Amino acid sequence: MLDHLSFTAPEPKVISGAKQDWELVIGLEVHAQVSSNAKLFSGASTGFGAEPNSHVAFVDAAMPGMLPVINEFCVAQAVKTGLGLKAAINLTSAFDRKNYFYPDLPQGYQISQLYHPIVGEGEVIVDMGPGIGRRVRIERIHLEQDAGKSIHDMDPTMSFVDLNRTGVALMEIVSRPDIRGPEEAAAYVAKLRQIMRYLGTCDGNMQNGNLRADVNVSVCPPGAYERYQETQDFSHLGTRCEIKNMNSLRFIQAAIEYEARRQIAILEDGGSIVQETRLYDPDKGETRSMRSKEEAHDYRYFPDPDLLPLEIEQTWVDAIAGDMPELPDAKKARFVQVLGLSEYDAGVLTAEVENADFFEAVAAGRDGKQAANWVINELFGRLNKEGLTVETSPVSAAQLGGVIDLIGHGAISGKIAKDLFEILWTEGGDPAQIVEARGMKQVTDLGAIEAAVDQIIAENPAQVEKAKANPKLAGWFVGQVLKATGGKANPAAVQDLVAKKLGG
Ligand code: ADP
Ligand code: MG
Repeated sequence: MLDHLSFTAPEPKVISGAKQDWELVIGLEVHAQVSSNAKLFSGASTGFGAEPNSHVAFVDAAMPGMLPVINEFCVAQAVKTGLGLKAAINLTSAFDRKNYFYPDLPQGYQISQLYHPIVGEGEVIVDMGPGIGRRVRIERIHLEQDAGKSIHDMDPTMSFVDLNRTGVALMEIVSRPDIRGPEEAAAYVAKLRQIMRYLGTCDGNMQNGNLRADVNVSVCPPGAYERYQETQDFSHLGTRCEIKNMNSLRFIQAAIEYEARRQIAILEDGGSIVQETRLYDPDKGETRSMRSKEEAHDYRYFPDPDLLPLEIEQTWVDAIAGDMPELPDAKKARFVQVLGLSEYDAGVLTAEVENADFFEAVAAGRDGKQAANWVINELFGRLNKEGLTVETSPVSAAQLGGVIDLIGHGAISGKIAKDLFEILWTEGGDPAQIVEARGMKQVTDLGAIEAAVDQIIAENPAQVEKAKANPKLAGWFVGQVLKATGGKANPAAVQDLVAKKLGG
């Protein structure tokens, strides 16, 4: 199904420094909150925006003697995500304790999967324009807990802690350093988000922080990356810096641009890059050091003694695999190959799963191209203008389908259909009933059209003489008749009659 896409290796962005050219190398660690009603190791709710500390089980608050119990649904969600990224599923994985102190982490450690992640190697095809797909390798996905939230801006002298988010399941999706430019990095995150939203495993809400990325950036001279690819030896690459916690595609791009230029300036000045964690400041448009490698935490990882290794069965994985929805690439390919849509239109319609569902409801049993035109040009155009989405659209898929049917049956012309759309948008109602009740039906009654043609001819003798000499001027009469009938006359019938009368 994907044969229309030509997969190519990601394209290096070349930046000219003062002395030489440099290429970018980027690897992303994406944290995606698992869509689940309950947390990873407790039954507490994951609901967003609740009263602080109202969704906290004893185990989330690390009360003495409380033990974690794995949430099977969260595991299934991680497996589903792995399958969506064509990744290997590890039937045995294990949880480790990552120890560090922070006020929003009552346990004093985060339960994560360092040594044995649940998902192994996979891939994502990143869309870089119609027909251009770039393959980025996934190294692993592991399951881990989110931390709570410290609140520093509610009181001048005190900080507060909200544990509602503590223990919520996250998937950390780690890419290989295969991303070669800022646009590719943003497109990669967008594609992950799209796939997970289709799967229903993460809602992709970046504003709420439900999807965020740590962005690793290094620069190297041309040719160095190819040597890394041949050997998988990281020493061919430059030293990386990691920009933490990015939750906007625009900022991810801006931060990479800035960071690359910062590193190039240091290297060309004879300096060297210090491996460190940095933060992006969107107001200043720059990254600044958060902590260096020397200050990096020693997490003292060890297997969590409270949790047995996680063993899942192949039959269970197969059942999840059998229940997968159609994913964006396959849907897009089907829209192109089966419905005859352009690559571009198919891309627009499949970008968000809700839009694709809406379009499919409109297109069911109808002409795909015509449905795509109406959905993209009329509906999306209007929704965008008014800041609405398909979920808040005043015109439903059934109503839009009704409009298309009326055109198809010859009941209304394309022009009247737009008026009908306007009525549906502002007043609602049943398309067929509106057309009937308001006399919007196309006039195919030849007698009525003939009367209108005769009238226009009788009223314009001078034009008739000219048109008889020059048949090209017949179009003027057609226009006048359509105008006189309020656009309801069947244009083909009008054309025929005008030609006959002027010629005869
Ligand atoms: P850590 O867990 O300490 O952050 P990892 O080895 O897991 O380190 O790598 C984290 C991310 O950094 C991965 O996405 C990887 O692809 C990326 N990465 C590794 N080396 C480089 C490099 N030289 N330049 C850019 N990204 C890199
Ligand atoms: Mg890291």
